[in-house]
Amino acid sequence: MPVQNQSPAPSATVGHSDTTGSAAAVLRAVLDHGPVARTLIGRATGLSPAVVSRQTADLISLGLLRELPAPSTPPRAGRPFVPLDIDTQRHLACGVHIAVHAITFALVDLRGQVVAQENVPHQGVAHEVLRQIVQYLPGFVARHSRGNRPLGLGVVTGGWVDPQRGVIIEHGLLGWRDVPVRQVLAAATGLPVHVDSHARALAQAEIMFGDPRARRSLVHLFVGNVVDAAIATGGAVHWGPHSGAGDVAHLPLADRSVSCPCGRSGCVQAAISERVLVERAFQEGMISKADMWTLLDAARCGDPRVLTLFRDRLRVIGRVVALLLDMIDPEVLVLTEAAAIFLPDLLTDLYEQIAAHSRVCDSPERIVLPTRFGPQSLAVAASATVLDAVHRSPRSLSPARATPGSRLPD
Ligand SMILES: [Zn+2]
Repeated sequence: MPVQNQSPAPSATVGHSDTTGSAAAVLRAVLDHGPVARTLIGRATGLSPAVVSRQTADLISLGLLRELPAPSTPPRAGRPFVPLDIDTQRHLACGVHIAVHAITFALVDLRGQVVAQENVPHQGVAHEVLRQIVQYLPGFVARHSRGNRPLGLGVVTGGWVDPQRGVIIEHGLLGWRDVPVRQVLAAATGLPVHVDSHARALAQAEIMFGDPRARRSLVHLFVGNVVDAAIATGGAVHWGPHSGAGDVAHLPLADRSVSCPCGRSGCVQAAISERVLVERAFQEGMISKADMWTLLDAARCGDPRVLTLFRDRLRVIGRVVALLLDMIDPEVLVLTEAAAIFLPDLLTDLYEQIAAHSRVCDSPERIVLPTRFGPQSLAVAASATVLDAVHRSPRSLSPARATPGSRLPD
């Protein structure tokens, strides 16, 4: 019997009596409005001045907030206010994204900004990929973390992932089953390890740092080599009792002549994944190397055949998006897909299909947004689970946990 089928709901902004909720609400208010005065934090959260004062002091000592210099012209009456902002200098979240051919290592600050990112190819064997991560990580952190120990390690990938057990249940394209990622990497690194699907992790990132509407309801659709989605309401990403929420790869929405490795035909992933797109372009002689970056370069150079390929794919994606909009009716749907990031002029094809097929959405340009993280979306996805844990429960960050090499609060 599952005990939980959603990620824990984030703190609302008002009415906190518990300390953890108050700390999270204060951090949220500074994330939204910073640099900001304490009085405005009180107004945004509904917390009393005494509680705001205590919480901000604690968050400063934990290295999550910092005071900025007071303005040179103080207000006419009362004490000059000292603005507070998120401290992006001290703590970093570390993330690892496992794609079909490569591992992305990332360090991201508390505002979700990527500090460092490195990509390393892998050969696709699960235990070797985990060993590669263990071997590569210390050097990567040492090169970029300014001597600070990361807050934790996020590991994300496509396919079916159980965040509670920290296990990749199934990754069809890699042929992985039941890979105990957290167990292996927590033991090897000593860091708290958070494991999730990249679609759900990016949904968490949109809730933390994106359009405020995403906190009310959000669908995130990821189209890479893997196609999968995430659904969030009230700021919480839905996992489902089997951690299977968001598996849209085999929705039968594509041309029935397309057969899928799953044995059926017309599956979305078999029709629109990057692998299929690149392979088709290569076989039809549009590109000399079967590689997504080569294909994007050809599109940016205006090759009409390649642009048509991307447009056709966006039109299928438009039908998938329309279905998701009608099923879930979210305030916002975020799309992470190569054309949405690198060829935004093509989005009119997507919007046309959504308008033609959706019953609820009559203004797709307002509801359907490209990912705000652009080419850094894999790095942000990898680290988002760690940031989410800190932003939800800032007091879980104990200075005593710091190890040699970490800067302790002053
Ligand atoms: Zn299929």
